[in-house]
Amino acid sequence: MSETIFSKIIRREIPANIVYEDDLCLAFTDINPQAPTHILLIPKQLIKCIDTALDDDQTLLGHLLLTVKKVAANANLSNGYRIVINNGNDGGQTVDHLHLHILGDRQMQWPPG
Ligand code: AMP
Repeated sequence: MSETIFSKIIRREIPANIVYEDDLCLAFTDINPQAPTHILLIPKQLIKCIDTALDDDQTLLGHLLLTVKKVAANANLSNGYRIVINNGNDGGQTVDHLHLHILGDRQMQWPPG
């Protein structure tokens, strides 16, 4: 599986504003924020997208979702936030390393664009 720019962020080969890290995942602010708070949460293990995740990734995927709570609390998103995972071309995915967008500090709209 091909590495992306996110692997370089994990290895500290390119800079990022890292806001959370543990053994399994890393969170950093999005370089092109779509909300006043826009954080990306990624697994350190390279999973391309939800479509390529395996049954063996179940614990890691659960860990990512539960880690969202910590990242959101650290960012003071006490009034709510949106979690987005873009999957594949129609989903709008541009970086082939699974990432959860955590968007907050503004009112979100529905339906999404
Ligand atoms: P997606 O379109 O769902 O694949 O989201 C990829 C996200 O990665 C976009 O919101 C980009 O702004 C963000 N992004 C790309 N390169 C970087 C980077 N070097 N540092 C932080 N965020 C990045």
